[in-house]
Amino acid sequence: MNDIKWPTYGTFGARSDFDSRELAAEVAAIVGAERVLQGAEARRQYPGDMSWLTYIHAHHGKPLATQDVVAAPTSTEEVAAIMKLATRLRVPVTPLGGGSGVQGAANANCGGILLNMGRMKRVRHLDLLSLTCTVEPGMNVKEFEDDLNAQGLTFTHYPASAEWASIGGCVAARGSGVLSTKYGTIQDHVLSVEVVLPGGDIVQLPEVPRHGVGPEVTQLFVGSEGVLGVITAVKVKLRRIPARRSFGAFRFDGLAQGIEAGRRIMTSGLRPAVMRLYDKDAAMHSLNRAVDAGLDSETMVVMFDGDHPSLVDAEAAICREICVGQGARELDATIGETWWDKRYVFYHPPYAPQLPQIWCTMDAVSDFTHIEALYRNVTCAMRESIDPVWGLTVRTHLSHWFEWGSMIYPRFGIPKGPDDLESALELHDRVVRAAALAAIESGGVMNDHHGVGMRLAPYLEQQLGSTGLALLRHLKAGIDPGQILCPGKLALGPDGGAA
Ligand SMILES: Cc1cc2nc3c(=O)[nH]c(=O)nc-3n(C[C@H](O)[C@H](O)[C@H](O)COP(=O)(O)OP(=O)(O)OC[C@H]3O[C@@H](n4cnc5c(N)ncnc54)[C@H](O)[C@@H]3O)c2cc1C
Repeated sequence: MNDIKWPTYGTFGARSDFDSRELAAEVAAIVGAERVLQGAEARRQYPGDMSWLTYIHAHHGKPLATQDVVAAPTSTEEVAAIMKLATRLRVPVTPLGGGSGVQGAANANCGGILLNMGRMKRVRHLDLLSLTCTVEPGMNVKEFEDDLNAQGLTFTHYPASAEWASIGGCVAARGSGVLSTKYGTIQDHVLSVEVVLPGGDIVQLPEVPRHGVGPEVTQLFVGSEGVLGVITAVKVKLRRIPARRSFGAFRFDGLAQGIEAGRRIMTSGLRPAVMRLYDKDAAMHSLNRAVDAGLDSETMVVMFDGDHPSLVDAEAAICREICVGQGARELDATIGETWWDKRYVFYHPPYAPQLPQIWCTMDAVSDFTHIEALYRNVTCAMRESIDPVWGLTVRTHLSHWFEWGSMIYPRFGIPKGPDDLESALELHDRVVRAAALAAIESGGVMNDHHGVGMRLAPYLEQQLGSTGLALLRHLKAGIDPGQILCPGKLALGPDGGAA
């Protein structure tokens, strides 16, 4: 049996016995009737995020999205008024960005108000001297990037979900993009946030981050997945579009050589904007589908960029030396360029999975000391977690590198799952559980950039330890004593996140 218990409608401190028509009327008095949906229409138009969990529940007529009301505020003051109302009525609130999350985090699975942040998408301030920008959370990532590009600027946060994801959702889920190895994950892009707390207070955190004024409170909201406050503005850093991009591709005889090359590159101070190392399965069956280059072994794609072409070329040349020194054969650089041009096609048909398939990505991260064992243990655990009869495939690449380590991105797929919901969930969870526990036991962290959501909440205590989770719960209880925001998410419910 599937032993996972996610919080459901009406659990925790928040009420479920309110009259949703009255609630809708009170919300409409704040944002205007045209920006409120109620009842079945609210659930039909906002069916939840893009996780397999969401799709499979909806497919079986048991949707995770059970909001009573959807509200689309247009200002921080309106968000604050909604939070005051929700606190007074003890009604749950779930913020929604672009709905592209893959862990079920943005589902209003406890009912109440779904706060659609998509109408708050203004650029509040652009500082061309400091290259910073204050933008509202509902701004779509691709739209933001396109607008910046037209001015010769770039955000450098390129998630594969850019066409759906919002800036607020990227911050709340602590996302990462394909250029993270040089420019960092979203936490490195965020300088400051404005948030509305559950009680309705508006907090504007210092404009300049990470200085001697106590703990870095801005980062408390990065990765908070909506449980601590509603992000209503984000100040991010920008840069100019680079003058030069230099691509490369290398074939390795084994993953260990590729990892060692990556380690030498990162620990020697080189900063490729892109460095993606595909294991043999992923090179042959995923990357090769897009670049059509007859790949038959572990393959690394790199890209260096910058404003100074000679520096870019020098970095690329040293990277080549390091890779060849590890036994790599240099491939045609157009492989890297083709990957860059097609980097988003993997997320659309015929590449993207859909029901009746079962799928999930179990990205995990560790330092260089543990990374090979992390790869081996996690991928083996996933393969051994279910009967071979299900035809599980696991394809892995390492796509985000740090000075101290890297991450693995094992994507699993099952061509067709069981017909009933319980068995399908159980099968999914057997693979997820095996991967999450293997990552933690291998000295790693069970997720790199997709967040916890509903999917990984059952394993957060193993990850943080009981005292670590208790600390988070104290924070939640102090900020949101009524458990109004995303009740039970991040395993922060009073009894551990279970109903
Ligand atoms: C095909 C595909 C590819 C993907 N590729 C990547 C990738 O390359 N990198 C990556 O990092 N992720 C990726 N993702 C996952 C997803 O796009 C990210 O998690 C993204 O950051 C979610 O943004 P969103 O606006 O869609 O957030 P949502 O899914 O709407 O919400 C995510 C979480 O943030 C909370 N939230 C949203 N807005 C706010 C706010 N204003 N205040 C407080 N909390 C808020 C929600 O309550 C929820 O907990 C991918 C997803 C898909 C489907």
